Amino acid sequence: MITVTNAVKDFGDFRALDGVSLDVPAGSLTALLGPSGSGKSTLLRAIAGLELLDSGTIEIEGLDVTDVPPQRRGIGFVFQHYAAFRHMTVRDNVGFGLKIRKESKSVIRSRVDELLDLVGLGGLQDRYPAQLSGGQRQRMALARALAIQPQVMLLDEPFGALDAKVRAELREWLRRLHDEVHVTTILVTHDQEEALDVADHIAVLNQGRLEQVGEPTDLYDHPANAFVMGFLGSVS
Ligand code: ADP
Ligand code: MG
Repeated sequence: MITVTNAVKDFGDFRALDGVSLDVPAGSLTALLGPSGSGKSTLLRAIAGLELLDSGTIEIEGLDVTDVPPQRRGIGFVFQHYAAFRHMTVRDNVGFGLKIRKESKSVIRSRVDELLDLVGLGGLQDRYPAQLSGGQRQRMALARALAIQPQVMLLDEPFGALDAKVRAELREWLRRLHDEVHVTTILVTHDQEEALDVADHIAVLNQGRLEQVGEPTDLYDHPANAFVMGFLGSVS
């Protein structure tokens, strides 16, 4: 579904991605796991088209998108610090991507209502972001990313700023949402527990290189090297 081949990205003298090749299976929920500074966000931003590679290619559904601008890659993106439109209601925030795509009011309304139900925000559509809890805001962000019916969802530490209990709840929501809509999803996290808990595939990144890719049990039972073993085994 998503194929990254030999991705290299330099920032000045610093090589943030050092020849990364990765296959993300269609319909999977793949965690991109690694310590801070390992290149996770850079790889995700490259897949989104927000960062251009120095060399290497990115394909989405067999289409080479290496030079395709972000808005034509069919991607929904959720960041850690989600910038909601504060002056817009929940409904208008979630429907915004559809509005700028000139969808009709009735299409927008029915899709937004459906998504809000799916993320447990049914009934809160007339609130403003400031009237939501942190967890509710990130669920709104998930709904907003899904509204445009993306081929791919990219989540960059979306629960990172929240406390442990809310993070655990949001993992549940993400898992349930993914079971419902099956959109190919990459979740960036530095939290091995989160990756083991929520993902069906895990790719371990370290210093701009991919150390191992596999199902959680494969990685846990058969770590490819000492780094993977140490990182999966450490408590965050
Ligand atoms: P992660 O998301 O795994 O924490 P990043 O992909 O954000 O890591 O960053 C990887 C490395 O690249 C870090 O050392 C970071 O400082 C560096 N880096 C990221 N973006 C830039 C940039 N725009 N300019 C310079 N250095 C950057
Ligand atoms: Mg990051």
